[in-house]
Parts: sequence; C-alpha cells; structure tokens
Amino acid sequence: IAGLGLNKKPLSQTEDVDESPDAANPADTSLLMKIIRQGLVESKLDIEIQRKDPNSPLYSVKTFEALHLKPNLLKGVYAMGFNAPSKIQETALPTLLADPPQNMIAQSQSGTGKTAAFVLAMLSRVDSSKNYPQVLCLSPTYELAIQTGEVAAKMAKFCPDIKLKYAVRGEEVPRGTKIQDHIIIGTPGKMLDWGVKFGMFDMSKIKVFVLDEADVMIDRQGHQDQCIRIHKCLPSTCQMMFFSATYDTAVMDFAEMIIPNPIIIRLLREEESLDNIKQYYVKCKSADEKYRAICNIYGVITIGQAIIFCHTRKTAAWLSEKMSKDGHSVAVLSGELTVDQRIAVLDRFRAGLEKVLITTNVLSRGIDVEQVTLVVNFDMPMDMEKKADCETYLHRIGRTGRFGKAGIAINLIDSPQTMDICKEIESHFGKKIQLLDIEDAEEIE
Ligand code: ADP
Repeated sequence: IAGLGLNKKPLSQTEDVDESPDAANPADTSLLMKIIRQGLVESKLDIEIQRKDPNSPLYSVKTFEALHLKPNLLKGVYAMGFNAPSKIQETALPTLLADPPQNMIAQSQSGTGKTAAFVLAMLSRVDSSKNYPQVLCLSPTYELAIQTGEVAAKMAKFCPDIKLKYAVRGEEVPRGTKIQDHIIIGTPGKMLDWGVKFGMFDMSKIKVFVLDEADVMIDRQGHQDQCIRIHKCLPSTCQMMFFSATYDTAVMDFAEMIIPNPIIIRLLREEESLDNIKQYYVKCKSADEKYRAICNIYGVITIGQAIIFCHTRKTAAWLSEKMSKDGHSVAVLSGELTVDQRIAVLDRFRAGLEKVLITTNVLSRGIDVEQVTLVVNFDMPMDMEKKADCETYLHRIGRTGRFGKAGIAINLIDSPQTMDICKEIESHFGKKIQLLDIEDAEEIE
C-alpha cells in the first residue's frame, strides 16, 4: 500500500517541474534521433586515430567485400541498403574484425554508423555451432537495447542459425536455466543478474563485449558500477568495444578504465555556424508583448516554417494555446511527451501540416528540420546561473555545412537581464544581433 502513492506527485512538485527549464533527457534524445533518422549522417571531416601501440597495423576499407564477411552476412548488409561503409565504418570495421581481436573506443555523433559497425562485428564473431552466449552488448535503456537488437535481427536475416536474446525488463528466465543464445543484448542490471548473480551463462566464454551509448550510460552512476562489475568477470581475451556520441573527460576516463590497449577513433562533427543567419532582437515589455511581436512577424514575412523556443513547458503550453486561439496552426514538443508522441509531432511538422513548432530545450540539438527558415527565441537560452548559454543558442540557430541555407533568428528581449544575455551572445560569437522594430518588420529579409 505504501507504494501506491508513489506516482502521485504532490501539486507543488508538479508546479516546480513546470517552472524549471525543460531539459533533454539523454536516453530519450538518443532514442528519438535513432527513430526519426532518415539515413546516414555524412561527414566531410577526417577520422582521427590514436593508438598506444604504433606497431599494430591499421587498415581501412572502401567496400564491404574487402572485409571478407561470411556470404550470408554480406547479403544481409546489402539487403539493408548499405552500398559502402560509412566514414567511421571504413576505419572501425577492419579493426573490429581483425585477428587477433583488437579493442576499440570509437566516438562519433549519432547517425554516423556506429551501431551498424559493431552489430556487424558481433555477428561475425559468433560461432553458431556452439550453443552458449559469446557476445554481450550493453545499452543504457530497454528501448535502446531493442533498437540495437532490431538492427542485429535485420542484418542477420540470412543467418537464421544465429540466436539473439534480450536481457531487459520483462524478460524472465527461470532460475537454473542455461541460456543457449549466442548474443545477449540488454541493460546492465539484468545482464549482471543473469550472468553474474544467477550464472545463467558462462562469463568466461564471452568473446566480444560491447558498451554502446557510453555517454548516456555514465549519466547514471548505478549503470557505470554495474558495467564495471560485469566487465570484471570477462576473460582477458575478450574483445572490448566502446561507443559514444560525445567525447568528454568523464566518458573517456570511463573508457580508458575498462578498455585495455584500445585503438581510439574519432570522427569530429561538422561545426555549426551562424554564418548564413541574420540575427535580430526585438524589445518587448512583457510576455504579452512578446506574443504580439510574434504575430507581427507573421503578418509580414512569408515563412517556410518556424521553431519557437521557450524555457519551460508552461510557457510553451501558454503560447501554443494563445496562437491556436488566434487561428495559427501550431505543434508543441516538450518533455512530458512520450517518445512516440514526439515522433508523431515531428512527423506532422516535417510534412508541413503545421507551420510553427513551439518547443523547449528537448529539441535543441540533433534534429534537423531542413525547411525551417525562422527560429524565434521566445526565451533566451540560459544556464542554471541565468548566464547566456551560448552553446544552446548555437544548436538552436546554427546550421552545419550540409544545411547551409540562409536563416533568420529573432530574439525576444523583455528585461535588462535578457538584454545582457543577448549582448553576451553577440560578443561571444562576434556576430551582430540587430535591433528590429516590429512595427516596421518589412526590414527583415
Ligand atoms: P549511430 O549508431 O552512429 O547512431 P547507425 O549505425 O544507427 O549510427 O546508422 C545511422 C543510420 O544510417 C541508420 O539508419 C543506418 O541504417 C544507416 N547506415 C549505417 N551504415 C550505413 C551504410 N554503410 N550505408 C548506408 N546507410 C547506413
């Protein structure tokens, strides 16, 4: 009975949540990006390689044939529509498939082909004549584990003898069972239970250990500890692979702690820039005046599509209600939506069913909507100390080379503090943010 009240947050707490900045949850963001992605993220930048042992040879391949995969696996790769390895795969795959096996730490932004690379390596290493687990893959959440499993199932379409099992919540195996599947993909807690606590498979026979989405994983201390406990039970001959979308000290410390003698490969991300963006600010006295500014901007320019950023869910909800009442068709994307609901909102917006998307920071990075020409900061991006958050500003407004089209950014300024933030952003990027008189909005182009 004590547990029953758990889900009912007291009202004051709910309001608190509402007023606090709506930040992105890394696991949700990662999942969303995987699901809505429409193909490979290409990069013109070069791979950076570091290795401790300069004598170990490094190869790179331009074709999947050059990897000498099992014919049925190659067939699976082509059936997925992959013609040639992606940039990160060119370098990662020969190392991941090498004999003797080599350990790898690979970092590149989401969408560059990491999952496909390690799934291919996992499948290649399986000896399906032996009925016990040989490959473990750790993901931070249930949903991310399922995504990876689905890629593996697709790629192994022509290898029906390879068996895959999920170690995730809801999957129950009776005590005393010996698991016979070749590959286990799951979350750290369940994997620890099955492999270490209940001995449902022999950890000393694991040949390949993959730690995926490591940056999301270390976001929770408990996960990191569980990964380390699993890792301790693996044989020294086990090949270790570590993947991350970001490269900061915490992630790299974790990586170096558990991956001995790795080859480290990184694909830098293309810089976002403000080069083709015209930036303006509008002086307003209140939230209502900000709202009127938006309506005025609407009246004078023919816009492709627009994204409006708010600081909290509450502001986003308030603004969308007002705009809808005034007959504008708007979509809202904020943190309380489930991943499925977010996908639905983004699909409609991409299809042009709504002209305006009102959102909080849940969207500040990674989701390119090409037809967006206008970005409005209803609230200026700021950090916990209410200082300018220049990085978030760049993610909201900036474009990479690929989408290097012209765009317009409008910042709504309603206090001396937000004016300071605007000035700080202006000087940080060294790019002028011009005053815009909205009564005379023809000057925007
Ligand atoms: P990451 O793990 O880095 O986020 P994924 O492996 O999920 O990247 O790949 C991103 C997208 O690109 C997926 O839709 C995937 O099917 C596709 N993809 C991966 N490798 C290739 C390739 N060599 N050729 C074409 N598409 C690819």
